[in-house]
Amino acid sequence: MTMNEKEFLKLAKKYSEPFCVTNGKTFRLGQVNPGETLGEEKTTAKEALEAGAELIGELQDKLYAHDQWAVLLIFQAMDAAGKDGAIKHGLSGVNPQGCEVTSFKAPSAEELDHDFLWRCAKRLPERGRIGVFNRSYYEETLVVRVHPEYLKAQKLPPAILKAKDFWNQRFDAIRNFERYLTNNGVVILKFFLHVSKEEQQERFLARIDDPAKNWKFSMQDVKEREHWDAYMHAYEETVRNTASEHAPWYVVPADKKWFTRLVVASAIVQRMNAMDLSYPKLDEDELKALAGAREALLQTGD
Ligand code: ATP
Ligand code: MG
Repeated sequence: MTMNEKEFLKLAKKYSEPFCVTNGKTFRLGQVNPGETLGEEKTTAKEALEAGAELIGELQDKLYAHDQWAVLLIFQAMDAAGKDGAIKHGLSGVNPQGCEVTSFKAPSAEELDHDFLWRCAKRLPERGRIGVFNRSYYEETLVVRVHPEYLKAQKLPPAILKAKDFWNQRFDAIRNFERYLTNNGVVILKFFLHVSKEEQQERFLARIDDPAKNWKFSMQDVKEREHWDAYMHAYEETVRNTASEHAPWYVVPADKKWFTRLVVASAIVQRMNAMDLSYPKLDEDELKALAGAREALLQTGD
């Protein structure tokens, strides 16, 4: 029996809440096991995901008609953690016209000529839309923190670069930016897909051994594994400093792709459902005008 949407609504809470961090102060990465599945089975999880994806499609339709709120989904993860699959499956029920995905790569020369939020601000979703950031301004407190030499390319004035609280300033900028967006009707959800080092190794090996996956293999990704601990520290610090009630982090176990996708879909459903979205209702005059239009249509025939 396939799960209906009402049933999924109940489960959405169960799958998303354990991984939702709204207060960073008490957060430690060790609290989340990348292999966690909450006792779920792959086949039932896949069924549930289908119901969830459909529900997200319906919520997105209302978001679009309502045309006041926007939703911003941010995805961050180590390589091969499954960002692309989570986006593909989680949003499979969404009308492509109501959604825009942006993948942020190493910044271009033009982007480096601006403040670090600039390129992301340009891609924010309009009201009524879902915006997906595949990587984001959080790269600044992740890859750039692990490789501070990247800061050179940013051409920041030395006085700013030298500031003792440089990284706190970056966190501050992000917190303020997210507060600003929230106060302007942008609902923010942030996902850190937390994969283990062992599972990443398996996935890199599969990229070498399976010809259909060869194109995904990157020597650079393998090299980055040398900095694993520094990355984990940077992720922990990032979540600790930027998780909030209005812009929570979901630290999602990512060793089982089917579970990751279910948690992501659950979080989106849970959050969008709480927005209490509805189709716009017409007032009395508008209803009268509609009735008039109906009459006129009937009188003119075909
Ligand atoms: P992904 O790795 O997200 O699946 P991809 O492999 O298609 O996508 P890449 O060319 O690897 O794309 O681009 C992502 C790379 O860009 C990552 O290594 C990331 O750390 C880097 N990057 C993103 N933003 C920044 C930034 N602000 N500063 C430095 N490097 C960045
Ligand atoms: Mg890459």
